[in-house]
Amino acid sequence: MTRKPIIFGNWKMNKTPSEAKEFFEGIKGYVTGDEAAEYGIGAPYVDLAIAVENAGAIKVAAENCNELDSGAYTGEVSVPMLKEVGITYCIIGHSERREYYAETSAHCAAKAKRLFAAGITPILCVGETEAEYDAGKTAEVVSTEIKESLEGLTSDEVSRLVIAYEPIWAIGTGKSADVETAEKCCKLVRETVKSLYDEATAEAVRIQYGGSVKPNNIKEYMACEDIDGALIGGASLKVDSFKELVDATK
Ligand code: 13P
Repeated sequence: MTRKPIIFGNWKMNKTPSEAKEFFEGIKGYVTGDEAAEYGIGAPYVDLAIAVENAGAIKVAAENCNELDSGAYTGEVSVPMLKEVGITYCIIGHSERREYYAETSAHCAAKAKRLFAAGITPILCVGETEAEYDAGKTAEVVSTEIKESLEGLTSDEVSRLVIAYEPIWAIGTGKSADVETAEKCCKLVRETVKSLYDEATAEAVRIQYGGSVKPNNIKEYMACEDIDGALIGGASLKVDSFKELVDATK
């Protein structure tokens, strides 16, 4: 089974719409869609329309969604709203949302189901804290997050899913996981999917590593058997750096 590599930036709470436009103008034509890998950017809600308009072959993701379609939920954004804007991916369960906004794996399962129904691919984030890592609980934490976040999803859906393994201690710290650890954990993600579904589903699901990925280390991660791509925060914000990430992986 050959999995198409998938490299996504995650801008988090950065860039106004005019800054987003400037970024896409700066990278215009750099990604053609003929590369071996898929490239994308996760952007704040208010940047999504301008991103879709200007991104060319670069895919656009929302960084969150609500699992319900409409109603009295002040400040929330639904999947039908995102669908109409034209995005094709949506990040769910990022550790920052789990930590600061009480997003749970049960929310992730509901969000993933709704996204698949709309034809939007979820990028599900999982990962352990530094304390959990030090206590040797990585496998337990990550497999539980996956199990609970995939609740109710079919094998067909899971085979189209993207899972980002992001150890929380490596996010924005410059302290990236060493390649062996990243591969070991991404393999664990695949094995967990296999135990919940079957071999074919596990072989199809694409798994990213995230946490201080930079142009100078992305290649080493991507060379690992179970790492199919990366989810990149800081290094995805500048045009030159994003271009270097593309150069290192195309
Ligand atoms: P950094 O690449 O800035 O460590 O962020 C990783 C991340 O959280 C991507 O979702």
